[in-house]
Amino acid sequence: MRRVGRREGIVCGILGIWGRSEVAADLMLGLTTLQHRGQDAAGALTFDGAFHVKIGRGLVSRVFEDRHLERLRGTWGLGHVRYATMGSTDVEDAQPVHVNYPYGLAMVHNGNVVNFAELRERLYTEHHRLVDTSNDVALILYAFAAELERRDLRSLTVDDLFSCVDATQRAIHGAYAVICLIAGRGLLAFSDPHGIRPLALGVRETPAGPEYALASETTCLDYLGFRLEGDVSAGEAVFIDAGGAVHRHRGLRQKPAFCVFEYIYFAREDSVLRGRVVAAERERMGRALADAVRRAGLRPDVVIDVPASGFLFAASLAEALGVPFRRGLAKNHHIGRSFILPTDEERQRMVRLKLNPIRGILEGRRVAVVDDSIVRGTTSRRLVELLRSAGAKEVYVVSAAPPVVSPCVYGIDMSTTGEIIAANRTVDDVCRMIGADAVVYQELSILRALYGDLPCCDACFSGEYPTGVDRDALEGIRREKEDAGR
Ligand code: SF4
Repeated sequence: MRRVGRREGIVCGILGIWGRSEVAADLMLGLTTLQHRGQDAAGALTFDGAFHVKIGRGLVSRVFEDRHLERLRGTWGLGHVRYATMGSTDVEDAQPVHVNYPYGLAMVHNGNVVNFAELRERLYTEHHRLVDTSNDVALILYAFAAELERRDLRSLTVDDLFSCVDATQRAIHGAYAVICLIAGRGLLAFSDPHGIRPLALGVRETPAGPEYALASETTCLDYLGFRLEGDVSAGEAVFIDAGGAVHRHRGLRQKPAFCVFEYIYFAREDSVLRGRVVAAERERMGRALADAVRRAGLRPDVVIDVPASGFLFAASLAEALGVPFRRGLAKNHHIGRSFILPTDEERQRMVRLKLNPIRGILEGRRVAVVDDSIVRGTTSRRLVELLRSAGAKEVYVVSAAPPVVSPCVYGIDMSTTGEIIAANRTVDDVCRMIGADAVVYQELSILRALYGDLPCCDACFSGEYPTGVDRDALEGIRREKEDAGR
């Protein structure tokens, strides 16, 4: 079979609404609240007896105009925002995707299929279906459609539907949260057996009866006026049928392993993930950093954040240390992530375009600068230069996350092992490479203790992948990055 250029899975924002009146406006608004999860492309699909689709590159506000709202008719809909993985900005990879048979199926997903090539081959040999795309969600859609086709479509029951989900989960390895609109039948959502990616269910009372929404983050439900009903947990499937009845199915559940990086960086601070408010988690992590800073024998005069993701960590670290917290870096909020930055040089330049040091705060001081994490070290190196250029006497780089040592195979674009600065290096090596006076990381054992009662995936810090990942898969990621021109 011809080799399809494989683009890695991606962190995205997904939304599905089962409504009783037109949903297009809510889809648009909802997608803007998920915009932080993807700024490269946006798409929406609605159903009113036929599918209506609008997909485009860029921010939600750029993709959708008033005329699209009028065209996107229907009371059920799906929405998607896509993260700008470098080298992959084609609209062809954007979502929702749909097929006309069986029933008419449309799908959005967030995550990454690890066994893409194997599954694609199986779909061809066993189901005679050519998946001529590099898009993970198309593969999941075809795998699910192939299972549906085996059932009696004239008398499909909810149990049949859930058995199709079970079979799809058995076939797909990786991390995924999926919402599928089944034309005329209802809205189906399911998660991978470890529940690595977030997905929440909300309900909204209306005079005509309850309406339902499924979204990557609860902040989206809040804005749209949906009350949180709960997460779609590890392996779980939820189906809202055409009459509005909600069916839940335990599905293929393995040891839960929710992505801890959602708490550290990806999710919005006002979201509630697995019952925990993200802001509170960040504050706990920030306070926990104080011990590490003391153990390193550091006495900063001021703590500053790398805006905006370092803010809550920095503020709570400063409070725990009894040191002033100040804004030492001003941020230009009008430069988005939509810039495509394939080289290290360009990434460094971007730091300078985004951040400007505030001399009056920094001059003559020992500065602890707090970031959510250190991945390549590119940003940290440039930050240290910036802070020194503004007169900082000493610069301590503090990472709210432990050292990133392994790539994420579940959809977060964080480089290959060769690009990760802490892979196979000591903290002193990292400190030297970024030119800081000291580097302090969160300890993995402390992070694990913080979420001890909530089993999480921390593979990028520990190398322990919940689904098991062999060398071939990691090598595959490296090749895909190369193919993508990174
Ligand atoms: S490897 Fe890291 S980023 Fe990827 S899912 Fe696990 S915790 Fe999240």
